[in-house]
Amino acid sequence: MTRERIHKASVVGGPAPNLSDYDEACRTFSWEAAARALDGLPGGGGLNIAHEAVDRHAVGASSARVALRCLGADGVVRDTTYAGLRALTNRFANVLSALGVLPGDRVFALLGRVPALYVAALGALKHGDVFCPLFSAFGPEPIRARLSLGEARVLVTTEALFRRKVAALLPALPELRHVLLVDAREDPPGSPGVHALGPWMERASEAWTIAPTSPETPALLHFTSGTTGRPKGALHVHGAVVAHHATAAFALDLKPGDIFWCTADPGWVTGTSYGLVAPLTHGLTCIIDEGEFEAERWYSVLQDQRVTNWYTAPTAVRMLMRAGEALPKRYDLSALRFIASVGEPLNPEAVLWSVAALGRPIHDNWWQTETGGIMIANFASMDIKPGSMGKPLPGIAAAIVKRTLDGGVAVIDAPDTDGELALRPGWPSMFRAYLHEEQRYKKCFADGFYLSGDLARRDAEGYFWFIGRSDDVIKTAGHLIGPFEVESALLEHPAVAEAGVIGKPDPVALEIVKAFVSLKPGYEASDALQLELMGFARKRLGSAVAPREIAFLATLPRTRSGKIMRRLLKARELGLPEGDTSTLEAGA
Ligand code: ATP
Ligand code: MG
Repeated sequence: MTRERIHKASVVGGPAPNLSDYDEACRTFSWEAAARALDGLPGGGGLNIAHEAVDRHAVGASSARVALRCLGADGVVRDTTYAGLRALTNRFANVLSALGVLPGDRVFALLGRVPALYVAALGALKHGDVFCPLFSAFGPEPIRARLSLGEARVLVTTEALFRRKVAALLPALPELRHVLLVDAREDPPGSPGVHALGPWMERASEAWTIAPTSPETPALLHFTSGTTGRPKGALHVHGAVVAHHATAAFALDLKPGDIFWCTADPGWVTGTSYGLVAPLTHGLTCIIDEGEFEAERWYSVLQDQRVTNWYTAPTAVRMLMRAGEALPKRYDLSALRFIASVGEPLNPEAVLWSVAALGRPIHDNWWQTETGGIMIANFASMDIKPGSMGKPLPGIAAAIVKRTLDGGVAVIDAPDTDGELALRPGWPSMFRAYLHEEQRYKKCFADGFYLSGDLARRDAEGYFWFIGRSDDVIKTAGHLIGPFEVESALLEHPAVAEAGVIGKPDPVALEIVKAFVSLKPGYEASDALQLELMGFARKRLGSAVAPREIAFLATLPRTRSGKIMRRLLKARELGLPEGDTSTLEAGA
């Protein structure tokens, strides 16, 4: 992608970034030193995410600081201070004990962005359990599959979700001993093991000594987004908190006193690593918005809450772009200092739009459920090359590799060469297992590398560029084409809101590039627009890469975490089975 770089010196003012000299930070960083920035458990030796996130701030002056500010769908704002969060999470840990739950058991949550979710997560960690969040929008089958695969012992949910989605599953889930309903007043009749949580919390003590967990004690279970197939359960340990803390300082530029808003759904990994753990370990105030996306409201939240650091996703950015450049100008976004995005490639057009519309660039960063934390990022101090996901974090060694026939890998040193993005294991938030899938886990590693399954290239300056998932890459007439490049070019056209690109089998070229496009308000699908888009793409990409076919769709199929499901576009195009659609967004 040949785009003008954004020179940081010309764009940002404000305080000096946490990471001011990238090369120096890479030279001097060590994970041991990063671990020393945390407290460890009182008495020495232990490490527990909840102690670092909550208890260590719940003393002295910081105890009265707001940890969680929940903006309810009912319009009510509910603040929880660090002292309050300590008390609530202690109570929840005591409830688990009273129920006979044992350390190491799995505690699941099926909840929207409500305070109880955060209390359950941190309380379970204090109890020494493994916490696993699920998307509240999941239907019964994905819920059953995950509770069963994860051998859930406890499920925390609401009365309505229980009734609608869980009650009928109970006979199939013998391991699930307790369901705790956060908003019920009384235990529902005829459902043994199903309790109203409120009375249990009221009876529970506010005193609790955190379980003696170590950096290697399992802490979190996250299911992947299911973009490329059946979701995998990635298991993480308490030591991950070292990476959550350090990477948030570097890649999200969190500083004392910041107001942080992470828009990710709690059902996927970003909602926990950065929607919950990282900002609290920094003692910040987290904004938690229970409502769904709505451009005006999102800008109001940024303005009214004086958000300083905002972590969002390309799909949300594309929806804001759809709502126009004039809208954000009506809001006072002067508190906003740093914007970052994750989950999908951030189209160069989106970076340029944010400079024009929001007055600051969006910093793309890359990571996966498996990596537990941000691995590659655009930093506050670094020039942005729109379309690039930035450089590896200090402490992270990334390489471009090719798999060899003997099952190993060969490192590609030459810049601007396509290959698989690989990382040297050893960072603390690396997953330790795919639950019950040891072979699949082992296959992720070769010759001392973790293989991400994503294709990328690195340029001569060390910036990484995303090409596509290896499953999505298109092979056409001897070329390898990443869908991202084609989608980004289409997005430059004023009519295009979203684009998803696949390889469609072709007897001559092996595959041809086919694009699916949704339009911005005010544009109508027509043959003329189709031709115009083909010509537009050809001019930008050349005829070898430009789509040979373009189809219009009202919306593109996306996962609940906002990723375009290209495998579904392809299956539908070819009339093939759709495979696992458990994470597919409703109506797509
Ligand atoms: P599954 O593994 O089940 O197919 P998934 O890979 O989408 O689902 P996640 O772990 O939630 O599950 O997402 C990680 C993937 O998202 C990355 O491997 C990459 O393909 C994509 N991704 C994340 N951030 C970026 C980014 N900044 N640029 C490009 N792609 C990204
Ligand atoms: Mg994946």
